Amino acid sequence: MKEAVQSLLERASRALSGLEEDPKALDQARIRFLGRKGELAQLFKELGKVPDDVRREVGRVLNEAKAQLEELFSEALEKGREHAEGKREAIDVTVPGRVPLLGRLHPITQVALEITRIFNWLGFETVEGPEIELDYYNFEALNIPKDHPAREMQDTFYISEDVVLRTHTSPIQVRVMEKRKPPIRIIAPGRTYRCDSDVTHTPMFHQVEGLMVGKNVSFGDLKGVLATFVHEMFGPEVGLRFRPSFFPFTEPSAEVDIQCVICRGQGCRVCKQTGWLEILGSGMVDPEVYKYVDYDPEEVSGFAFGMGIERIAMLKYGIDDLRLFYENDLRFLGQF
Ligand SMILES: [Zn+2]
Repeated sequence: MKEAVQSLLERASRALSGLEEDPKALDQARIRFLGRKGELAQLFKELGKVPDDVRREVGRVLNEAKAQLEELFSEALEKGREHAEGKREAIDVTVPGRVPLLGRLHPITQVALEITRIFNWLGFETVEGPEIELDYYNFEALNIPKDHPAREMQDTFYISEDVVLRTHTSPIQVRVMEKRKPPIRIIAPGRTYRCDSDVTHTPMFHQVEGLMVGKNVSFGDLKGVLATFVHEMFGPEVGLRFRPSFFPFTEPSAEVDIQCVICRGQGCRVCKQTGWLEILGSGMVDPEVYKYVDYDPEEVSGFAFGMGIERIAMLKYGIDDLRLFYENDLRFLGQF
């Protein structure tokens, strides 16, 4: 019996060494040796089988062993506590923290906000319109009747005969004029859709529409507003020119080119050696459009313009592949 007790103490001592750092394992070892069904308890059970003359002596040995085991465990527990405290002190509080990844606005959103900021500053109010649009607002009321050849310029997503995904932000002009009387100054950013996809086209893209209507609004106002915009957006040194063009809902119409921001007008691959880059379409609102919204073309006049936000963003940041905007590569997005 004494030998069994001795062996138990030795095994317990061996088992405990190295467990100081692991409170869970320490607790398991305590249950194994000192628990109600543990090894020491088993020895106590056998006390009944021991002959009467030595029972007292064996009982004393067992009680001593119990006291020793308890001592062993409380020492191990204490060591574990000291160790944990030591570990806490070992934390170097001067090490710089890890900064969590911060989200930010998408470059397209940033450029859209910058464009609307400039026009808000010029007195234009930001408005929005539906992306799922009636054929009437997307085409008809913009002087593009059914069978008009201009419809072929735009690869439209049709939802039904009368409902489309808007192909441009221009329908917002009609919706606003329908509800309000002049003077009107609005800027309308939003998503637009065309059935087209390659290096320079994505099926979903963004446009900003602008409209100013009132008494005696002239082509001179159009030039002044757009020149101010270009100089705010790309810098006061950037030149611009107006080039005659055609749109069904403006007359006369003009496209606006800016001096190439890559080569500063010297001629490069991006501007196809011309030194100029087209950035937007514009013109005086066609009197035909006023008929749809009950304005009198003898009383009021105005201009409208529209531009692709991706195009502006590509020129502003010197990006040559449109698809980069939609791949959501954090290494790309993190640069803005
Ligand atoms: Zn160039």
